[in-house]
Amino acid sequence: MKAYFIGGGIGSLAGAAFLIRDGGFAGDDITIFEKLPLMGGSLDGARLLDGSYSLRGGRMLTTDHYECTWDLLSSISSLEHRTQTVRDETLAFNVQHKANSRARLVDRNRFKVDVTRMGFTMRDRTELFRLTEASEELLGNSRITDWLSAPFFETNFWYMWQTTFAFQPWHSAVELKRYLHRFMNEFPRIETLGGVKRTVYNQYDAIVRPLMNWLEERNVRFVHDARVTDIEFVDGGAKLSAGRLVLDIGGKGSTVSVEDGLVFFENGSMTDASSLGSMTSPPERLTKADSHGWELWEKIAAGRPEFGNPAVFNSSIPESYWASFTITCRDSRFFDQMEAFTGNVAGTGGLVTFKDSNWLMSVVLYHQPHFPDQEKDVQVFWGYALHPDRVGDFVAKPMSDCGGAEIMRELCGHLNFDPAIFEKASCIPCRMPYITSMFMPREKSDRPLPVPPNCSNLAFVSQFVEIPDDVVFTVEYSIRAAQMAVYELLKIKRPVPAITRHDKSIRVLIDTIQKAFA
Ligand SMILES: Cc1cc2nc3c(=O)[nH]c(=O)nc-3n(C[C@H](O)[C@H](O)[C@H](O)COP(=O)(O)OP(=O)(O)OC[C@H]3O[C@@H](n4cnc5c(N)ncnc54)[C@H](O)[C@@H]3O)c2cc1C
Repeated sequence: MKAYFIGGGIGSLAGAAFLIRDGGFAGDDITIFEKLPLMGGSLDGARLLDGSYSLRGGRMLTTDHYECTWDLLSSISSLEHRTQTVRDETLAFNVQHKANSRARLVDRNRFKVDVTRMGFTMRDRTELFRLTEASEELLGNSRITDWLSAPFFETNFWYMWQTTFAFQPWHSAVELKRYLHRFMNEFPRIETLGGVKRTVYNQYDAIVRPLMNWLEERNVRFVHDARVTDIEFVDGGAKLSAGRLVLDIGGKGSTVSVEDGLVFFENGSMTDASSLGSMTSPPERLTKADSHGWELWEKIAAGRPEFGNPAVFNSSIPESYWASFTITCRDSRFFDQMEAFTGNVAGTGGLVTFKDSNWLMSVVLYHQPHFPDQEKDVQVFWGYALHPDRVGDFVAKPMSDCGGAEIMRELCGHLNFDPAIFEKASCIPCRMPYITSMFMPREKSDRPLPVPPNCSNLAFVSQFVEIPDDVVFTVEYSIRAAQMAVYELLKIKRPVPAITRHDKSIRVLIDTIQKAFA
């Protein structure tokens, strides 16, 4: 049997690995089609031609969750330490570099906010409790603002939770409820980010490259610049079966018969239509009309409600976009001053959020080097803003109209640092119009199951599938979807690792209540 993956993100790479490791597939029977020139999807990280580095995102993982991720990475060898798996290498790294933020929120006067208290009133607690305990049926496609009153959005808790996980007040109440349950054990330590685990390097080098290497060693076929434009179905009686893929490979049309094979489709991408700017220019404003990234899902879901409803996720860029930036420093001045200000050595602090900033800007200083090829005097950090459409405090423009130099000026304003500190640095802005599309309010039926019940050989593997109790905007969600899909289609007996129910632990519940009332 052959297997075909549409999309080369972590969901597909994981799916291919599960097919080989647990399903007995030969690597050369697996093909991965990716419309972009590189595999890895949203897990990117690269050095640009001018020597600046760029990351669309930086990931926080945990070891108390991410069950399927660690299961996968426990089979993948590290590229630098060949006798170690990526899982063991990452765990060892985190023993040495423990997260313990000392400057999680900074206010407009550059004070480090005392975040030991969540800042709740009794009304905030009651409303939050009501949302946490409401059933998903009751929450339906309501928004967070339908459940929580305006003062809640000024609490320390909201600033920290929102910026750790990238929520907006208008996002799905169901998703917030799921996060509160799934990450309940993070709540009592949210101000230190004590549960967060980091990868040794950026996630392209730390996760994607070792996984690609493992798949390449087993002869998996990767086809770049290959967009699947249609899946033609064969009506096989009771069940629908994918019969043919229609492809555009580097501008040339072709088809592949998949009738006797399995098809795994990455329906939708949070980084679709993203674009990079430069020091002097903002990123271009692209949309799905430019990227064609959602077309295939839209096409096959038309008239097939079991394949979900992409329009719910991709129709409102103002509600689903934000912007990030990567700064490459060529001397240590910024890192030195930040370490002195925050009290955190780079790699131990996590997000520093300027809570009063118009753009709602956060930065995170990773352990260095963050890229294996980084030169000694180079230091790289990442930041993002949840409101890039608002005029800045120190630059009279929305961030989305700013080049990198203006973003660095705004950052210096919030820190009261002399902008000359960045005279040797470069900043690459990145616009992501669909970055929180998976948090948009939705009904349960708006996302397909990993294997829709009426499909014999088609699975969905992405952030836009329905997995009970798990939370989107995580690497784990895509890997779990892949593991579920592979195991179901191949009827593999080995269980998919269960979601750890910290919200059922008495200890966690007591700690959570104590924290909420502190
Ligand atoms: C800024 C940012 C911060 C993040 N922070 C965290 C974090 O802290 N913790 C965490 O766990 N996760 C985080 N994530 C989320 C995590 O990176 C993603 O959930 C995960 O990488 C998604 O993987 P995926 O394989 O499902 O999708 P993607 O990586 O989006 O890959 C899908 C791929 O499919 C391709 N594709 C789609 N349609 C077609 C087609 N028709 N033909 C060919 N190719 C197609 C796309 O081009 C894309 O490359 C973050 C992501 C970003 C961007």
